[in-house]
Amino acid sequence: MKPLEVLSVASEMYPLVKTGGLADVVGALPAALAPEFVRVVTLLPGYPAVLAEATGATPAYQRADLFGGPARVLPAKVGEADILVLDAPHLYARRGGPYADASGQDWPDNAERFAALSRVAADLGGGALPGYRPDALHAHDWQAGLSLAYARYATPGPRPGLVATIHNLAFQGQFAASLFPRLGLPPETNGVDGLEYYGGVSFLKAGLQYADRITTVSPSYAAEIRTVDAGMGLDGVIRSRDGLVSGILNGLDTVAWDPATDPHIAQRFDATNIAARGANKIDLRFRFGLDQDPKAPLFGVVSRLSWQKGLDLLLEVIPALLATGGQLILLGSGEPALEAGFRAAAATYPGRIACMIGYDEAMAHRLHAGIDALLVPSRFEPCGLTQLCALRYGAVPVVARVGGLADTVVDANPVALERHVATGVQFAPVTAEMLKVAIERTVALYRQPATWRRMRKNGMATNVSWRDPARRYAKLFRDLAKRR
Ligand code: ADP
Repeated sequence: MKPLEVLSVASEMYPLVKTGGLADVVGALPAALAPEFVRVVTLLPGYPAVLAEATGATPAYQRADLFGGPARVLPAKVGEADILVLDAPHLYARRGGPYADASGQDWPDNAERFAALSRVAADLGGGALPGYRPDALHAHDWQAGLSLAYARYATPGPRPGLVATIHNLAFQGQFAASLFPRLGLPPETNGVDGLEYYGGVSFLKAGLQYADRITTVSPSYAAEIRTVDAGMGLDGVIRSRDGLVSGILNGLDTVAWDPATDPHIAQRFDATNIAARGANKIDLRFRFGLDQDPKAPLFGVVSRLSWQKGLDLLLEVIPALLATGGQLILLGSGEPALEAGFRAAAATYPGRIACMIGYDEAMAHRLHAGIDALLVPSRFEPCGLTQLCALRYGAVPVVARVGGLADTVVDANPVALERHVATGVQFAPVTAEMLKVAIERTVALYRQPATWRRMRKNGMATNVSWRDPARRYAKLFRDLAKRR
């Protein structure tokens, strides 16, 4: 069988460049889809870290002027995965992050940077590379959204199936209307049925309008974004495309996240010897200077510190968490006020609360291996990966009942407990009061060793791999190819 060819277009890909779960998904899809006879090639901006992978490569495609400078496409490999690097030094050759400089200021030309990525994606999708004609163009988030408009309107010839995936609707790529003439799109695309958005333009909206299929990263989030409350101003567009929208959960890299082989943790373990996990809790407390209190349930957080993640609510209920006898370790970075809040809590309650401000992959592994319960009080969560790590590592996730959190954690309600299917604790609505109640419920469960052991076992048995999601993506690409 000839594999289906998918050109995936994204602004980040693990392990080359990552600011969030988007990178993990883009990095995982090529290997996840290979067994489904789908070959994924990923087009990425040539930031320095990406360009380094393509040293010595022969350009496969060139443009003399791409938004103000020359550009070329360089083929390369990341592990087994094929990538295409868009080398356009005037847009990407700079120090700093993919979207912002070292001080956190957005690059002033982000519109051009990602319009350029999208323009080239549409060229390649339309057959600009000799011998390569993808069946589908898969645009991730706003940075790739415009590629679907270019593929429909600015690229001659047969076009591939167009798929937009929303990883987070909060980021929409909105720019002033004055940008439009520079994009090189026909005037009819600048209306309410196109990329026009409240007098400006939105790259994500373009993706949603011109996609043949829209996916997002969990079934619950797919339902939520149709509503005014969670639609972030695009709910009307999403409702107008009903029938084309579906939710496919993210999987976890179960090789990198395997407690039986994890090189980062003090003591490896699996579902048959969960007790061995205790050594990781001791190690973690030691590293963070927490009391080795055998009775204390140890809560953990691994997260970006942003409003979305609801960690201001956790700051509010720290006295209640301590009143249960619990301890807390937070690993995260982000908004300065939240960083300061957790630093202050750790200073006020030494031995009981600790935090590490920063991004540390190895430490994240140690946390999931050593904590008793993971707190995820997100106000919204398209999918969430951190609760999947917790499940796999025998930590009980305590989550807000939103988006992918609702879809991946089975609440320990009486029915689920009786049927032995509970894996965690859910709470709603997302308020400090309900988070407090959830923490108290969790500690009550923790104090029932047989129930707690069962929940952890159930969690570790949950299938969090890419196998099922990959099958669903493959089916979507295949259905789309058949209809065209
Ligand atoms: P988002 O993409 O909104 O940040 P996700 O849960 O989908 O949230 O994905 C983020 C991933 O990055 C998770 O696996 C999470 O555990 C991890 N992560 C977040 N913050 C840190 C940190 N400070 N150190 C290590 N890993 C982190």
